[in-house]
Amino acid sequence: MATKLPIAQARLFGNVFICKECNHRVRTQAVRIIAGKIKCVKCGSRVFRPVRKK
Ligand SMILES: [Zn+2]
Repeated sequence: MATKLPIAQARLFGNVFICKECNHRVRTQAVRIIAGKIKCVKCGSRVFRPVRKK
């Protein structure tokens, strides 16, 4: 992870969200998260956050 290419960043973090309950990664479109259509496969939670939040 030495280089920070914008293209690589978009590929890695563009459509990836993390479950707030168990930190499981889910790759999906943001609109589907907002619409509440995505459920965590591990714990069943619908609460997600963007992966890049620091
Ligand atoms: Zn979860």
